[in-house]
This record gives sequence, structure tokens and C-alpha cells, in this order.
Amino acid sequence: MTTPLRIARIDLDAIASNIESLRGRVGTEHAMIVVKADGYGHGAIAAARAGLAGGADWIGVADIGEALELRSAGITAPVLAWLHSSSETFTDAAEAGVDVGVSSTAQLDRAVRAGVSSVHLKIDTGLARNGAAPAQWPEFFAHAARVGVGKTRVRGLFSHIANAGAEADAAQVAAFEGAIALAESLGLEFELRHLAASASSLRVPSARFDMVRFGLASYGLSPFADETGAELGLTPALELSSEVVATRRVPADTGVSYGYRYRTPRETTLALVPLGYEDGLPRAASLGAHVLVGDELAPVAGSIAMDQLVVDVGDRPVAVGDRVVAFGDPATGAPTMDSWADAAGTINYEVTTRLGRRVVRHYTGG
Ligand SMILES: *Cc1c(COP(=O)(O)O)cnc(C)c1O
Repeated sequence: MTTPLRIARIDLDAIASNIESLRGRVGTEHAMIVVKADGYGHGAIAAARAGLAGGADWIGVADIGEALELRSAGITAPVLAWLHSSSETFTDAAEAGVDVGVSSTAQLDRAVRAGVSSVHLKIDTGLARNGAAPAQWPEFFAHAARVGVGKTRVRGLFSHIANAGAEADAAQVAAFEGAIALAESLGLEFELRHLAASASSLRVPSARFDMVRFGLASYGLSPFADETGAELGLTPALELSSEVVATRRVPADTGVSYGYRYRTPRETTLALVPLGYEDGLPRAASLGAHVLVGDELAPVAGSIAMDQLVVDVGDRPVAVGDRVVAFGDPATGAPTMDSWADAAGTINYEVTTRLGRRVVRHYTGG
């Protein structure tokens, strides 16, 4: 048997223990693990199960298709989906017992007509994205109070924070509190009021309410530029590895890869690694990213190609078959996903969700 060219090792125990520690830290009655976008690249079904094992009691996804995948896998825990197409009828959600986030009276009416058993009203408190705008709240809430007495229960009220600084966060918390008061004055009672995702759940205690929604942090990644996952006590669950498949000794001033964006500063050894941008390593990180070759970091040399990249390993005795880790747990010496995001001028959220299709997933733990 040959080993795969590219392996993503996903540590389900890390996800479970991240959730357990995060949940302990925030102390809310309920905690959601968000597994949209295939569990931030980790596999939605596996991540959901790990999150539940770690003490999450809700699962969040963006769309109903993602929710149905969880149900098809036999996951019966509460699932909330909040982003819908203009033609969504909510019949599949009703049948699968999926909670639906609704952003308008039109969506609410359709969910009621489909027989959805419980909805969460989604309101915009300052992200200017999804959710009913403040001017619509009185009518939205009054309408919900009327339909909520039927078969469909109005279980929750939620919103999402823009992470635009302490003042903006506080304004959103205040707007959310105002919305709760208004809704209650119109006769609504919510079991679940939820506002905070990873960043605000950790740094804005007043945003925690009845439940927090952990996406990125569940996977051991930090949502902050000034605090690492390790500093938050989290363990990254994803490691992308491969091996050296060829080496060559080259003289000084050898141009490497497309466009010769790297020239060897002296005689050196180049190692070829079969990981490229299709596998999720951003081409924009070509200049600045490092990988672990054996037990030492080495710089990526020149443009990352679709399927492969070249590393300058200097005079080290690197051989074909040596293990290469693109990113993983820094406690093992691996580069962090954040270092790739920095080199590419993006955020870890984007790197983790870009893991390519042909990378073979190996699950451990769970
Ligand atoms: C993606 C998302 C989350 C999770 O955000 P993180 O920053 O990854 O924790 C929570 N709530 C909503 C509405 C989202 O869209």
C-alpha cells in the first residue's frame, strides 16, 4: 500500500477538548459548535460529533443543505441554519426537524406554512448583513408573537457581532438588549438569546446571554490578531502533511518555479513537496511561508503551483520520503495556520476552509 501524497490529520479529541474548555470559560447554559463550510474544512459530521462529545448542545450551520447532511448522518441534536435562498420553502427543514433562523416576516411565514417546529428570529444589531433591520423589529416581533402561538414555536432571538472594537461591540450588545425588551413587551419569550461567536464570547462577557456560538475557536484557532490559539489554551485540530518526493542540488542564482520569483542565494538543496494551491496553500503565501521538513522549518522557494511547491533546505541532508508539515500544532514544531494566513495577507478562517478536495482526511480520536 502506498501512503497518500497529502494527508489532513484531524484530531477529534482536540475539537472536543477545545469545546469543553471554551464552554467552561464562558459559563453559558448552552453552547453551539458551528460546523458550516464542512466544519471549517475539518469535516462537518465528524466535527459536530466531536463538539457534542465536548459538551456543545447545539450545532450551527449556514444553510439547510448543510443541516440535512448532519441529519442524514444520524445526528439528532438541535441544529440551526440561518442563510436561505429566495425560493426556500423550509419543507425539508420541517421534515428533518431543523431549527431555522428567519430574517424577515416573509421567511417566518414560509417557515410556519412548512410546519417548521421552531424558529430563531435573526436581527441585525450592527453588522449590516443578514437579519431584520431595527426599523423592522416592531412589525417583525409583533408578527412573530402572533404566529408563535401556533405549531411553530419562536424559540430564539439572535444576532451577530462585527468585531469592530470595544465600543462597537458594546453598542451591539445594547441594541440586542433593546430588541429583547421590545420583543418581550410584545409578548415574546425566548428560550435562547444568542449574540456572540468565538471572538465576542471570549472578550465580551456581556454578549454571552443564553448561548454562544463557537466556530473558529472550536478548531483550536484564534479569532484574534493579538492572541494565539495556544495562548487561549486551544489545540489546533488540523495538520496538513506530505513528504519530500524529490531533491536536487542547485548552484547559486538558480531561478525556482514559475516566474523565477525566488533565486537561490547560494548553492543549496531544493526539496519538492506535492502540496499546492489546490490543496489549500494560498499562492499569495509563496514568499514568506515556511514548512516543517523533518524537524526544521524551511522557506517555500518561489511560486506555489497548483500541485506542488519547492522548499529551500540549504545544506541539510534532506531525503526523499522525509515528512513535511505545512501547518499544524505549533507544540509539535509545525508552522501555524496563522503563519500561512499572515504570509498570504488573509485570515486563518480563509486558510482552514480552503483545504482541497484531494487531501486525504485521517481522523484520530473521537
Ligand atoms: C460563522 C458564524 C459563527 C461562528 O463564527 P466564529 O467567528 O467562527 O466563531 C457564529 N454565528 C454566525 C451567525 C455565523 O455566521
